[in-house]
Amino acid sequence: MSKVIIVGGGPAGVSAALYTIRAGLDTTIISSGVGALGKAHAIENYYGFALPVSGEALAMSGLEQARRLGVKIIEDEVTSIGFMDKLTVKTTSDEFDADYVLLSTGSPRTAPRISGLSENEGKGVSYCAVCDAFFHRGKPVAVLGEGEYALHEVKELLPVASSVTMLTNNVTPEISLPEDVQLDTRKIEKIEQNEEGGLKIRFENGGVLNVSGLFVAFGVAGSAELARKLGAITEGNRIVVDATMATNVPGLYAAGDCTGGMLQVNKAVYEGALAATAIIKASRAK
Ligand SMILES: Cc1cc2nc3c(=O)[nH]c(=O)nc-3n(C[C@H](O)[C@H](O)[C@H](O)COP(=O)(O)OP(=O)(O)OC[C@H]3O[C@@H](n4cnc5c(N)ncnc54)[C@H](O)[C@@H]3O)c2cc1C
Repeated sequence: MSKVIIVGGGPAGVSAALYTIRAGLDTTIISSGVGALGKAHAIENYYGFALPVSGEALAMSGLEQARRLGVKIIEDEVTSIGFMDKLTVKTTSDEFDADYVLLSTGSPRTAPRISGLSENEGKGVSYCAVCDAFFHRGKPVAVLGEGEYALHEVKELLPVASSVTMLTNNVTPEISLPEDVQLDTRKIEKIEQNEEGGLKIRFENGGVLNVSGLFVAFGVAGSAELARKLGAITEGNRIVVDATMATNVPGLYAAGDCTGGMLQVNKAVYEGALAATAIIKASRAK
């Protein structure tokens, strides 16, 4: 039986799961909690509710519906997805093989507003350690983040870089770091190019850190970051998909806010159903 892993338990992911489970596919949702819906106090433009419904209630009801049909729901954070003979989804505590993976993690968290961060994207600032670590081999790098996702990026960089510093920009880190990683919690004032072609990170207290590269990994990994690690085409934070919601990576699909366009429940639910239909068709053709 084909195994489907759905990353994200919002309207897109749950909608897809309802289709794949009912088609007999082994379906698991991995979700790190309520996404954008949790912030929507009252939704009154979604079909079927005479009175406004809270986003959280809608999200909980969707998950319950999926659970009742037999979908496995795991509360965890996905930190990475790999591809060898099969797709492999890594969480903070486990690893799962899958024939098909649907990315439905919503629209990305905004990176902290730091002067020079977006201006230096592609010029030392990166959002993907596995993609760009090679450019900084033997050189000092920093990771900007505070949680499990940042720790994952730190671990990718440690064997390659000469040193790794974790910068939290005044946030208390939620993790314990490997011994050989420096922790610097100072608030960052701005990021600029230095004379060596790397980056100069200026702190509000007047201090400076020079690094070859800065890897942004705040919050949890968004779909675009996870997709990029697999070589999937993205445009900014939007994952590029075809008409069936398939990415350019075999077996990898995306749906909902992470594909851009209209950021609405209706569209997320539709794209989840579309992706599931394509997955079901592909699994039957095997
Ligand atoms: C304040 C506000 C009000 C809104 N009001 C409306 C409205 O009135 N009508 C309307 O139609 N839409 C509204 N929306 C938009 C709507 O909430 C989104 O379009 C919809 O929730 C998108 O669904 P999704 O499944 O793509 O993503 P989300 O609902 O964001 O779900 C993403 C899921 O992915 C999970 N996730 C993320 N990263 C990871 C990871 N690394 N590992 C594991 N899980 C992960 C999250 O925990 C979550 O379960 C509103 C949004 C906001 C913020």
